[in-house]
Amino acid sequence: MKNKNLFHPLWVSGKRFYDLKSYFFNRFHDRVYKISLDAGFTCPSRDGRCGTGGCTYCDGRGSLLRQQGQLPSITEQLEAGKALYARLRKARKFIAYFQTGTNTYAPLNRLRRLYDEALSVPDVVGLAIGTRPDVVSPEVVDLLADYARTKETWLEYGLQSMHEQTLRNINRGHDRHAFEEAVRLAAGRGLNLCVHVILGLPGESPEMMLETADYVAGLPIQGIKIHSLLVLRGTPLYDDYRAGLFTLMSREAYAELIVKFLEKLPPEVVVQRLTAEGYRDVFVAPAWARNKLQVLQQIFDAFAARNSWQGKFADSSGD
Ligand code: SF4
Repeated sequence: MKNKNLFHPLWVSGKRFYDLKSYFFNRFHDRVYKISLDAGFTCPSRDGRCGTGGCTYCDGRGSLLRQQGQLPSITEQLEAGKALYARLRKARKFIAYFQTGTNTYAPLNRLRRLYDEALSVPDVVGLAIGTRPDVVSPEVVDLLADYARTKETWLEYGLQSMHEQTLRNINRGHDRHAFEEAVRLAAGRGLNLCVHVILGLPGESPEMMLETADYVAGLPIQGIKIHSLLVLRGTPLYDDYRAGLFTLMSREAYAELIVKFLEKLPPEVVVQRLTAEGYRDVFVAPAWARNKLQVLQQIFDAFAARNSWQGKFADSSGD
């Protein structure tokens, strides 16, 4: 892949930010695709360990596979994903992405078995483990750091917002301190850390969301996933939405905010997601979020209109 722009030598796919495709190309010189897995993990924010009820925006159903009945093995899920993405995306290497539920919420032996199984599948070149920051022990970090010596290894923490009041409002079940402890535990161990953030949470102004950008920009992380708040049927958030307790951002406002957010992040932080999709059967709002390509185009246009790029205002207050 040839660098098609002048914004940053790492951004080889030609975007105004460091997208995952560029990162994988720089790292593997090949097409790499993340395969989402459901290993049957539950969530401690629902079973009482870290709270009850779960996050207000989460429908708690897990993956489509889980809803269909008994889960296939990790190997079966990976082989199915490999066949699909080799055909659709011409991918030749794969990352096993333990996505559904809290993927460190099990005894260490079970975690090791699952992760080892994933890495034993041909063409799987690494792991990505999505989890809550309050369910990461030093032993789990040691295990992942061990993988990281020879394999691409990402640890993904849900943060959603830096604001304590927001974390309480959305019933995250952990505070910012827990997140900072989890970052401290994993930083400097050879792992890649990725943080998940939601824009548009009830009670948050654009300024507050950009404070989260400033906060994230100061962390020792390698990646970020951002998406807009989605209202899903059957969630506490849905009840609040129907009661008119908050409003959702327009697509234009969201795109503008994404650009301002990324302007604050260092150019080396990999942007793994800019919008959410899926949940079609329970999706309620905002309507514009149904069309991922349009959302992405709006973001690209907003970058161009502002003549901007990721990191333009890193280490400064921006505008
Ligand atoms: S931590 Fe994740 S799985 Fe658990 S309730 Fe929140 S969003 Fe859902």
